[in-house]
Amino acid sequence: MYGYSGKILHVDLTNRKTHVERKPEEWYKIYIGGVSMASRLCWENIEVGCDPLSPGNPICIANGMFAGTPVPVGGKYGIASKSPLTGFIGDSLSSSWFSVALKRAGWDAIVVHGASNDWVYVFIDDDRVEFRDASHLVGRSAYETEEAIREELNDDQVRSAVIGPAGEKLVRMASVTNDSRQAGRTGHGAVWGSKKLKAISVRGTHGVRVADPEMLLKLCYDITQTAQGPYTQKYRILGTMANVLNLNRLGILPTRNYQQGVFEYAELISGEYLHEHYHVKTIACAQCPIACEQMSRVKDGPYAGAMTGIDYEPLYAVASNCGVGDLRAGIKTVDICDRGGMDAMSTGVTISWAMETFERGIFKKEDFKCSKYPDGFEPYFGNADAVVTLAEMIRDREGIGDLLAEGSKRASARVDAEKGTETWKWAMHIKGLECPGYDARGLKTFALGLAVGTRGACHNRTAAYDPDIQGEVDRFSVDETRGRLAKDTEEYAAVYDTLPLCKFIRRCFTGKADRAGAWPSIAKLINATTGWDFDYDAVDLIGERAHTIKKAFNIREGWTRADDHLPWRWMHEPMKEGASAGHVVTEEELEYMKDLYYEAKGWTKDGLIPKEKLIALGMDDVAEEIGV
Ligand code: SF4
Repeated sequence: MYGYSGKILHVDLTNRKTHVERKPEEWYKIYIGGVSMASRLCWENIEVGCDPLSPGNPICIANGMFAGTPVPVGGKYGIASKSPLTGFIGDSLSSSWFSVALKRAGWDAIVVHGASNDWVYVFIDDDRVEFRDASHLVGRSAYETEEAIREELNDDQVRSAVIGPAGEKLVRMASVTNDSRQAGRTGHGAVWGSKKLKAISVRGTHGVRVADPEMLLKLCYDITQTAQGPYTQKYRILGTMANVLNLNRLGILPTRNYQQGVFEYAELISGEYLHEHYHVKTIACAQCPIACEQMSRVKDGPYAGAMTGIDYEPLYAVASNCGVGDLRAGIKTVDICDRGGMDAMSTGVTISWAMETFERGIFKKEDFKCSKYPDGFEPYFGNADAVVTLAEMIRDREGIGDLLAEGSKRASARVDAEKGTETWKWAMHIKGLECPGYDARGLKTFALGLAVGTRGACHNRTAAYDPDIQGEVDRFSVDETRGRLAKDTEEYAAVYDTLPLCKFIRRCFTGKADRAGAWPSIAKLINATTGWDFDYDAVDLIGERAHTIKKAFNIREGWTRADDHLPWRWMHEPMKEGASAGHVVTEEELEYMKDLYYEAKGWTKDGLIPKEKLIALGMDDVAEEIGV
């Protein structure tokens, strides 16, 4: 096979053994790589119904088809397990040199089974696999761990995917980090921590064979030229932080735990302000000619020295959504999350739930006792130091941080059970995954896309905000187009997440970000890499298959139609100010849109998948288990 090695590495942590699996080329044509292949490997290897933090939940890593080739933004891999936050499929992506090293080592995917008794890291040195003691790495930050392993192995070409202290302590929103990038969402770090797996390190020394190197180089040259032009200018200069002021204008910038959609200090947390006052450097993932990562540093005040890459999604969660209009505290909090190895989005949204619970008098000052504040502190909205302190407490599971480390769904359920309260009404999650940085009361197609998302509330797995924001539909109403739009946008996103290619390249093929603009070019890249004969329809099918295997996983784990929900607040509490004031997504609207969506997918009214549909997608064995 070209573009692949044809080998999947299975690592058994319990018995410290490995074996190699080979799949037929047809299997690769269906599952491709990234989140699709990783989710399929979960389907094949998980103990159905297991606790996500038990040995029966495998870690499945699937590389990208284009990793290690010249394809721009193709240096990415997917990772999947059963999520400790949602109990459903948890699939994430990360970028950069780890995926390149894995490809050069000759592995298309890794499946890690079981659990170790002692802290361990796995070193993959081309074909050779070592289990190495990791006890000396426990407690070290994600960045320190990557560096310490490189020093220990005396090779700066070794690339590691690691967990930080949050993963070690089974914080449910813990992430996996490599090359300073994160597989951030759904709690992979906790799964690694439950296996006492501190890192997977890789040294790869082989080349990557592609079918038509000359053609691939030519295609890549053209895309690279375009990728450095106007279509990506927004990302290259301000990065995703360019969103802040636009979303504030639309009245959908989450503020004070989604109580508001406009933030009076939006200017102070904008991409423009960040660029002018805190930006120090722009960096890029491996294979990327765009470079969107805006490294930012705090130069003065109590958080001086904090430095990390700032993107919109982590920043809104710890800034406007906690009422904090000081970027210095925002950078510090994201830095704590990045070093500690936790998802800043889930961390910020869980903190904002705690702040509202305090402001409503359910939590008291004394509930917030910690080593820094032995008498407790008052986490009212806007208290920047409270946000910084709570992020540290979650990372360390200190004091109330132990409760918050469970995520907003479990934390609110526990408080409500103990106190007879209804804090779940302001716990902003879907299926247990905290909401992203767009208030869905002002984006009704997006609301549907989030509700039906297989990994919960995720803006990356659906692009359903596009028709709302671009004005293709009325963002405040629902109509018969929404089911089809949600289907099309989630499968469109799934193509990028499966190859994987960074979505910021999407306009660089022909200037249009739609299927017609991109699929023919992507088909040429696939064919030059693999020697296959993919066309527009075959590329389109990648997305439907990727989404279907994730949905099938969820159905087997007990998903029902009721799991496709929205947070109570979005359905019952209209915002009072801004361009999206006065709107909610009603129960009737949501159920109507779900009907349309299931119909567009070719599923039953209950959201289950007919056998013939699965067979038509080449998933006969899946049809046997969950088809209706
Ligand atoms: S555009 Fe940004 S996120 Fe995408 S590959 Fe490049 S640096 Fe990474």
